[in-house]
Amino acid sequence: MAKVWVDDTCIGCEACVDELPDVFQMGDDGKAHVVNAEAASLEEIKEVAEACPTESIKVEE
Ligand code: SF4
Repeated sequence: MAKVWVDDTCIGCEACVDELPDVFQMGDDGKAHVVNAEAASLEEIKEVAEACPTESIKVEE
């Protein structure tokens, strides 16, 4: 199973949260966090990761 996480370079733009709200949610720290990596396909997550302006979404297969 792939491991998905957001590193601390996230600038909190909320793009990933808007795209996949079941996977990503904003935390009290103003950064996105992965709440359920299995709520979307790996392909969808990779697309959102590519769209992240700071390349903060990491996927390890
Ligand atoms: S798209 Fe990237 S920078 Fe924007 S909230 Fe998500 S992880 Fe953070």
